[in-house]
Amino acid sequence: MKAVRWHGKRDVRVESVAEPQVVNPRDAVVEVTSTAICGSDLHLYNALIPTMKKGDILGHEFMGRVVDIGSNVERLRVGDRVVVPFNISCGNCQYCARQEFSLCDNSNPNAWMVEKLAGFSCAGMFGYSHMFGGYAGGQAQYVRVPYADVGPLKLPDDLSDERALFLSDIFPTGFMAAENCDIKPGDVVAVWGCGPVGQFAIQSAFMLGAQGVIAIDRVPERLDMARKYSRAEVLNYQDVDVVNTLKEMTGGRGPDACIDAVGMESHGTTIDAMYDQAAQKMKLETDRSHALREAISACGKGGTISIPGVYSGILDKFPLGVAFTKGLKFRMGQTHCQKYMPRLLEAITSEQIDPTFIITDRITLDDAPEAYAAFTAKKDGCVKVVMQAQAA
Ligand code: NAD
Ligand code: ZN
Repeated sequence: MKAVRWHGKRDVRVESVAEPQVVNPRDAVVEVTSTAICGSDLHLYNALIPTMKKGDILGHEFMGRVVDIGSNVERLRVGDRVVVPFNISCGNCQYCARQEFSLCDNSNPNAWMVEKLAGFSCAGMFGYSHMFGGYAGGQAQYVRVPYADVGPLKLPDDLSDERALFLSDIFPTGFMAAENCDIKPGDVVAVWGCGPVGQFAIQSAFMLGAQGVIAIDRVPERLDMARKYSRAEVLNYQDVDVVNTLKEMTGGRGPDACIDAVGMESHGTTIDAMYDQAAQKMKLETDRSHALREAISACGKGGTISIPGVYSGILDKFPLGVAFTKGLKFRMGQTHCQKYMPRLLEAITSEQIDPTFIITDRITLDDAPEAYAAFTAKKDGCVKVVMQAQAA
């Protein structure tokens, strides 16, 4: 079968590999019909997440049809159409019981690697390095899905792939980011980053009752998308002083909640952002956190900082004193996708939201290397790439 494989920094290749098989009674094998490239894949592409090995199959946003199941899988049948969450969760541990699926205790066979860094490990993930389990990803024609009774969500036959696919990650991620803001009537939410996660965070903040959303980025097409489809007011951080402008736009109070949908590869032209560029290159810090610093400075007193953007290690110049003085609350983490998928499927089928607005590039697996490059460079209007995995 064809698969998109990681070969090093900014080097992905489409290659022929053996098809996966059921190796555990709780597995399914899914024939992938559609798969997407995520901003999280760019952290791998830019070689910022350790423990990748040459030849690893990428991809954690995918859906398709079940073609084989293990003897202990009860909820799925061969032929079922499913969308699969990016996190792999056992369904039995105390975290899964609390619906904290991304904290699953059992699904990461390489938990010891994360424990060395963080004390404890989170769940395993598809296509996301050996420290998160070393599982083959779904940017391929077939994928092995462990704990198949827990993750995959069955789909109605009349729902198109394009409307269902983002239940695998970015829609639940945007939604959890907004839910973590505990939005109350009248609240104004600011969102850093108008990539796919930012767009779904904006849409979700409105779904959860925000009065207004202010979105921040510098890429014109992404700002346009946030304004046109996600109904946000927008700021280009290259044109304005973000913190002061947000203050002015909120009657001097600052936003009630701030969502960092940028993560560890934040850009910026200020001194702290230039410091981050240099420090990251010299391996003095792992993550560039300019957007997060700005969110902390901008957030109103008693407000919430919600962080869906991925951070991997050590941040420098972190203004904890500012957060402490204002009594801010922090919420973050990998998304507990399975918790949100049924509810968000309902939002899609009832036409409360049409997630296809985000798709700018429709390609086949063969074009993945060019698409990774375009998505990284944020050029040619590329916001979200969807690949048809079976098409030639
Ligand atoms: P993306 O790279 O397409 O979007 C990031 C956006 O941030 C870009 O549009 C970029 O121009 C913008 N940006 C950069 N610096 C900025 C700054 N200083 N201020 C404002 N905007 C800035 O990626 P995406 O797919 O939208 O993902 C966003 C983040 O969410 C990534 O870190 C990704 O890894 C993470 N993510 C987390 C989860 C989770 O479970 N928590 C799931 C999916 C993605
Ligand atoms: Zn993703």
